[in-house]
Amino acid sequence: MKVPDQLTTEVYGSLVLSESTIIERVADGKLVLTGEENYLPRAEVTVAGCNYHAGQLSPSLEGALKLPVGAAAANLPDLFAEVKSALTGLAGVARDEATLLAAAVLSTWVADALPIPLHLAVVGNGRLSRLKSVLASLVRFPLVLTDVRATELGTLPAGIEPSLLVSDPSPHTLRQLALTREPGSFQLKSGNLLPVPHCPCFIFATAPVAGVALTVHVTQANTCPLPKFQLEQLETSLRAQLLGYRLARWSAVSRAQFDSPALTSEVRAAAQCLGRALEGEPDAQQSVILSLRGEQERRRTGLEQSDAGLVLEALWTAGHDEQSDRSVKAIAQIANALVAGEGRRFNARAIGSILREQLGFCTQRYSDGYRVLLSRTAGERLHRMAVEFGLTAPLFPREGCDLCTETTIDTAFNGPSTCNVHEVHDVHSAPSSELVDAVESRLPAEEDRL
Ligand SMILES: [Zn+2]
Repeated sequence: MKVPDQLTTEVYGSLVLSESTIIERVADGKLVLTGEENYLPRAEVTVAGCNYHAGQLSPSLEGALKLPVGAAAANLPDLFAEVKSALTGLAGVARDEATLLAAAVLSTWVADALPIPLHLAVVGNGRLSRLKSVLASLVRFPLVLTDVRATELGTLPAGIEPSLLVSDPSPHTLRQLALTREPGSFQLKSGNLLPVPHCPCFIFATAPVAGVALTVHVTQANTCPLPKFQLEQLETSLRAQLLGYRLARWSAVSRAQFDSPALTSEVRAAAQCLGRALEGEPDAQQSVILSLRGEQERRRTGLEQSDAGLVLEALWTAGHDEQSDRSVKAIAQIANALVAGEGRRFNARAIGSILREQLGFCTQRYSDGYRVLLSRTAGERLHRMAVEFGLTAPLFPREGCDLCTETTIDTAFNGPSTCNVHEVHDVHSAPSSELVDAVESRLPAEEDRL
């Protein structure tokens, strides 16, 4: 029996051997390796006595994934600017929106170095197909899908974690997409448990999407189709640099600690992805955070922008936190954290009066101060009001909260008409003492059960 002298391993997409050693498959069945001068594409590479060569991919899959012809060294600020200008120039989106989308594009190239893959809703009134094709030309391993089945994603060859581009997903597709974001998801297929790959995802829709924290509202975009040759030019000029960016920055991104605590918790998770993809470039990170804050502010229109909206958001956070005593003091702290840097500040007394007089919640005095009483009924009302106020929080149901599942998913899929809007309006236009009584009459038996 012949024993092979060396082990041979096939590489289908990417193989991260260590923080500093990545083998990447490129076009024509070649491989490139980190740290090599000029990233020369070769049919075989050897690392620590092990040979690696490209595994066989089906031609249709290989075509769809848009493998670059090689990797090229790239200066990150220049590359970021080039991606942005492709988005403004070719897709016609506004500058702030292009900043966020460009950071999202970069994050797809280092998605496996990030704690959680970025799921982004691209929301616009007009046709977004041109923007979608530009993004598909820029993201790593693009797969443009009409329907997503997690079991099928699980059958992709190892090392291929595609960036999904999906338009107007059905509720079923959204549930499948959510699996690509959860750590350790498995799906059963023909008696085998297949791990579901972690996939960054761009969802194109006309309204914010349930379960997707970060929305980029596209206010302007070119709508006529882009000629194929222009997309090919874009791919030729940028994909090799994007791969070079991956190989040069993967290790730094995997160790990055970038965070933006001033953003609300859901947007904050997305900001971590975008900021970490730009690790080492504080100016670029700053521009992304400014755009995100701008995006968050634009969305906070009307009610949501009001003090009452802010206090409601703080109450939502405290109400879902098992550690929180729901004291007015704690809610004031959360509210102040949400507006940190905006020059607004609230004391507990002001928060208490907004809670009672504008939002119609009950507070009760304890030895250490006032607390909000959250009965089941009050909890239901909190969830409905959060949707009515246009907060982003309900788009992200909390695990273990049945009210989130009941109120949020229904509302987000079917529009706010499924909840009792009239009751909500009654509450914040004139908090009636009846409602307060109704809440109090159920206390204390149901107190603090959200
Ligand atoms: Zn909830």
